[in-house]
Amino acid sequence: MNAQPATLPFDPLRYRADFPLLARRVNGKPLIYFDNANTAQKPRQVIDATEAFYREHNANVARAVHALGAEATSAFEAVRDKCARFMHAPSRDEIVFTSGTTQAINTVAYSYALPRLQVGDEILVTTMEHHANIVPWQLVCERAGARVVAAPITPQGELIVEEFIKRLTPRVKLAGVAHVSNVLGTINPVRDLARACRARGIPLLVDGSQAAPHLPIDVQALGCDFYAWTGHKLFGPTGTGVLWARREHLAAMPPFFGGGEMIREVRIERSTFADPPHKFEAGTPNIAGVVGLGAALDYVEAIGIERIGAYEHDLLEYATAALKSVPGLRLFGEAARKAAVLSFLVEGAHAHDLATLLDQEGIALRSGHHCAHPLMQFYGVPATLRASLAFYNTRDEVDAFIAAIARVRKLLG
Ligand code: PMP
Repeated sequence: MNAQPATLPFDPLRYRADFPLLARRVNGKPLIYFDNANTAQKPRQVIDATEAFYREHNANVARAVHALGAEATSAFEAVRDKCARFMHAPSRDEIVFTSGTTQAINTVAYSYALPRLQVGDEILVTTMEHHANIVPWQLVCERAGARVVAAPITPQGELIVEEFIKRLTPRVKLAGVAHVSNVLGTINPVRDLARACRARGIPLLVDGSQAAPHLPIDVQALGCDFYAWTGHKLFGPTGTGVLWARREHLAAMPPFFGGGEMIREVRIERSTFADPPHKFEAGTPNIAGVVGLGAALDYVEAIGIERIGAYEHDLLEYATAALKSVPGLRLFGEAARKAAVLSFLVEGAHAHDLATLLDQEGIALRSGHHCAHPLMQFYGVPATLRASLAFYNTRDEVDAFIAAIARVRKLLG
């Protein structure tokens, strides 16, 4: 890729050419990939970096004195610096590599929350959270006799901030909120929520899975305590992710996973642990994946996350207007600030049936509860269809999608 000069209009086709899979045909039709919130496609730069690691540098990290060991360690650790820059973290030592957001949140649940939770305590989330930001809290709350509570949202899909703040009582030991909802696309006002939490001494965890591919992330400006994201939605390999946490939290947290790489000294009776972040990285990490993640960050940075966000916003407005013109279509999530995610239902068509027929047209989108049961309950539906866009998607694809909905709908009668 040669990133376009920022002065030129954004040309998705130029970037699209970097993604081999997007050239595929599916069911005899050109693929239209609208399932980016689920996982994004990978540019050849990421595929090449991962392959080059295995072909030329493969060795374990932080163990061997031989040349390959040193190369692998420096390639792996260089990505920690990139992640710190990407998130504007004050220190590389605050970047913990994980297998994804799910592992990151579980780490905070077991290492930070569980030792602090007492009977009657609460963890506050919102109705729009992904199960990854609900279930880990339930598991540790059950052990401690605490409970998970949720702040409500409006029918448009916006968090009711006053209700969130009202629930920040002394019982609450931690709050967790999605930066961007994976179903509604809503961008939550994390900075305001973090300020309210801080004023009450309550740490805030932000689930940034759906934000990292679309928005600039600045953990210092946001003022949160923990920020988790996943590499595979940011055009990187699966099984990669990051937990950022304030240094003082990481220092005070006991490790959750034990094993090699995370210790200082081991005796049969007891062990002492390495400093963060290594204290939280037991065992052999996904080294090639992390190297690929570094290539994904380089790729996104070369285009510019602001330019990506601006183009996607334009595409979102175009797709929203187009979808709204479909008779009998119900759109879920009309927040004033939202990322390029469109959840909807079409009158008279089951979500799965429509998704199956659209797949026959080469269109990949998700149908289901999107790992957000409480949100589905709020709207009183078992499932929605979700089209989630990336910077390599185009208006032509949106047009083809709308035309396909009209065609397949006739089949459903
Ligand atoms: N939170 C949100 C908002 C998500 O969209 C996802 C992925 N669908 C996750 C958490 C979990 O991410 P992962 O499966 O990569 O751990």
